Amino acid sequence: MIHLPAPGSPVPAIGETVTAEIDWARRHRLMRMHTCLHLLCAVVPGAVTGGQISDGKARLDFDVPGATLDKEEIAAKLNALIAADHEVTPRWITDEELAAHPELVRTMTVKPPTGHGRVRLLDIAGIDLQPCGGTHVRRTGEIGAVAVAKIENKGKQNRRVNIVFAA
Ligand SMILES: [Zn+2]
Repeated sequence: MIHLPAPGSPVPAIGETVTAEIDWARRHRLMRMHTCLHLLCAVVPGAVTGGQISDGKARLDFDVPGATLDKEEIAAKLNALIAADHEVTPRWITDEELAAHPELVRTMTVKPPTGHGRVRLLDIAGIDLQPCGGTHVRRTGEIGAVAVAKIENKGKQNRRVNIVFAA
């Protein structure tokens, strides 16, 4: 984590105690959008080949060769999962348990950090379960309505699904 002082603001001396403050409104939007990406993993089949999240929008790339993805259908499924207000629960498993269940890892190129004895899982009851160290809301209803802005074809292994908040 790197904290950059705003341009022109005084730089603290080495060793000086500083107080950092989270921009809660922004953090909460990121938590909502990030939790929504877990739901997107449940709605779209196939491995995740990439992704990006920013304030108010996010995207995931999926390896679904040949498949056509319908953006209205994906949005309807996402909003149904959001409206159902499912519980979102982080929990931990051991490195060995993860090794015994490789299917838990949805990302093709990024592997969860192991070697510390345990791995954090994010569990959306019966919907999505995968290693994740990110920040999430407690229930899917907190995400609020979303829309699929567009679906792009980014090559053989990449169907890029772009999500935005609907409101
Ligand atoms: Zn997550």
